[in-house]
Amino acid sequence: MLQKATKVYEVQDFISLQKSAGKKIGFVPTMGALHQGHLSLIEKSNTETDVTVCSIFVNPTQFNNAGDFNRYPRNIEEDLEMLSLSGCDFVFFPMPEEMYPDGEFKTINFHAGSLGEVMEGKHRPGHFEGVAAVVKRLFDIVNPDIAFFGLKDFQQVAIIKKMVADFNLSVKIIGCPTIREMDGLAMSSRNKLLNADQRIKAAFIYKILKEAVFEFKTQPAKAVIQHALADFAANGSFAIDYFDICSAETLLPITNYTPQTPAVICIAAYLGEVRLIDNMQVD
Ligand code: AMP
Repeated sequence: MLQKATKVYEVQDFISLQKSAGKKIGFVPTMGALHQGHLSLIEKSNTETDVTVCSIFVNPTQFNNAGDFNRYPRNIEEDLEMLSLSGCDFVFFPMPEEMYPDGEFKTINFHAGSLGEVMEGKHRPGHFEGVAAVVKRLFDIVNPDIAFFGLKDFQQVAIIKKMVADFNLSVKIIGCPTIREMDGLAMSSRNKLLNADQRIKAAFIYKILKEAVFEFKTQPAKAVIQHALADFAANGSFAIDYFDICSAETLLPITNYTPQTPAVICIAAYLGEVRLIDNMQVD
């Protein structure tokens, strides 16, 4: 049975009961508007831990654009229904006042360094500061043994891992594979904002990523990127924020494929007003 809470103390009471019974706690933080991608993280937690806690909080501090925050899909009733069926044990869905009690959007003394200077960090100033602060606060409340994050947000996983290392937190971070629609589009809450025509066009991102991964095995990054950008320009539907080929460890650009350096190709693109991100690892 799914237990529900909106208050921090309710979570803490539940967790201390579970910990005193020796249970291993798994945690899946989300912003709601749940889909199969989120549920894959819940399933993974169910198999790896004794108790799965999910949070649903559309965190205002990680949005660098008020319109994006206001438009972000919210559907708590449907989310709770999905979680009840998922085997999740506990859901925490606080109001902003509960997460930021004195109305202050607290930041934490954490610097993502070069990991935060590229891609999402570069194009969404303040985004990762907001993410790190809210995830740290959620970790403090839930005190999980393992937390599960989607590799769809590849840079986010790298930054959370650094945050955990910098603060010496005892939580283990597991990055989980991207779940895709039948046509390859990465599942995302923001997909709900696409109209029917945009939804069909959106799968082009997956097609180009797949081609780029293939090409990068034999061509320099510069040529692969140029080709991909030319394909997007010819398609005409997208405005590209970035299309980067980078080291999967440092997230810094790499010029050529070598089997020794795991690489990841990352994209952020607007389809109308909707900003979509995706990535694909080489190998
Ligand atoms: P969000 O609600 O978008 O903040 O996402 C919550 C968690 O779900 C994050 O760890 C995301 O990376 C993960 N996630 C989002 N979409 C997917 C997907 N298509 N496949 C796997 N994980 C995902």
